[in-house]
Amino acid sequence: MTDLQSRLREIPQVSAVLEDARLVDLLAGRRRAWAGRIVQDEVDRLRARLREATGPVEDRAALHEQVVAAVRERCGRLLRPAWTRVLNATGVVIHTNLGRANLPGPAAEAARVVATRYTDLEMDLGSGQRDHRGRLVEQKAALLAGAEDALVVNNNAAALWLAVRYLAKGGPVVLSRGEIVAIGGSFRLHEIIHETGSTLVEVGTTNRTTLADYERALVPGAVVLKVHRSNFAVEGFTAEASLAELAALCARSGCPLVYDAGSGLLVPPVELGLPAGESLLADDVATGCDLVTCSGDKLLGGCQAGLILGRAGHVAGLREHPLRRAVRVDKTTLAALDGVLTAYLEATALPDLPALRALAQSPAQLQERAERLADALGAQAPAGWSVAVVPDVSSVGGGTYATCAMETRLVLLAAPRAELEACHQRLRRQDPAVVARLNQAGLAVDPRTLADDEESLLVDAFACAWAVAKAKVVTRG
Ligand SMILES: *Cc1c(COP(=O)(O)O)cnc(C)c1O
Repeated sequence: MTDLQSRLREIPQVSAVLEDARLVDLLAGRRRAWAGRIVQDEVDRLRARLREATGPVEDRAALHEQVVAAVRERCGRLLRPAWTRVLNATGVVIHTNLGRANLPGPAAEAARVVATRYTDLEMDLGSGQRDHRGRLVEQKAALLAGAEDALVVNNNAAALWLAVRYLAKGGPVVLSRGEIVAIGGSFRLHEIIHETGSTLVEVGTTNRTTLADYERALVPGAVVLKVHRSNFAVEGFTAEASLAELAALCARSGCPLVYDAGSGLLVPPVELGLPAGESLLADDVATGCDLVTCSGDKLLGGCQAGLILGRAGHVAGLREHPLRRAVRVDKTTLAALDGVLTAYLEATALPDLPALRALAQSPAQLQERAERLADALGAQAPAGWSVAVVPDVSSVGGGTYATCAMETRLVLLAAPRAELEACHQRLRRQDPAVVARLNQAGLAVDPRTLADDEESLLVDAFACAWAVAKAKVVTRG
């Protein structure tokens, strides 16, 4: 018998694993259908591993134990929620991998209510007749952006795609070579335009595009598109036609102008501690764009959604578009967005939204929070660790304000490298998990992205990670 054959002979039978007493609870009743498939999967996986294996032949009992443990692990994971709560200690406010903006309590509560109860989602309670879903939410968005009307869709990618598809109707879409951008992994401007069925007409160069470049490319039926450079900056020998210049050109030539504003800023950036210079959605709309699109979960501070704002005739046309249904939002999204927009309408100063609150903290406030955290962490830190408060920068994130660094204060924990790395990893595997910054100087916690009530949770999480490390040392010794 070959080595491979003797190896594979030891693979446990699926039926034997299914009968293991430790899997009885997992395989009970109707669960057997899916949990049984996990057993089959794990046996298949084992076979694949053994085909590649070298080293001593493992016996059937040991392999059986491995399969049972793997099945319990995987089934356990499937029976828990798919996501773990994370304490964001990175200082990146709109952190796409951590879910971008957080909702304020009332908006989350509104989403919960419509998710669990019947509501007048598509009914006018006055007449009892069918009504357009989300009409009031869209009115709120239009009012806040100073637009004639608004439409809510799934995200900004969908907003841009639908807007261009509707206005260009398969004709040319004129776009600067400096704005054929990529956002995230899969949003690439030229591909989106291609998918609208229109033809991309590139004008200008990567660093310089003038109004004359657009002018030369304009033909009847063309749409002019301008895209915010959200996640990069072009510096040096540059030129760009402003939105106002493009609006004037489009008005003269009768071509529609679409602007992808990216983030969707509704409050002046200086109130958020960000440099002036970024336009508000209301400015973009007022400039004379036919349609402006933006995300709901970037600097707007809401949930995943796309807003299309602009002329009433166009928005009405979009609302009737046969593909609108393909990009429409769920009722919980509408309710959450409604809660966020209501917060903007209610606010007489900065609206009370977690993302805006995180951005607007002053260095003095951050210093105070960092000192409080440093004291609490210092009191628990094991021997060999030091804790200090140091100045540094946090970033907006979410592909917004790419080159803007906001002053912050970090709690910097220093220790031998191996301990830092082990702690960093343990923190990510706890519940709640902690995602912090590990850099050359140590493990850093930025208080900017922690809610006030998360400070003590963070200290507990570190204490727990340190306790695990200590227990390990004791066991080893
Ligand atoms: C973020 C961004 C998008 C994509 O928005 P989503 O809501 O994530 O689909 C499109 N365009 C610009 C300019 C952006 O900044």
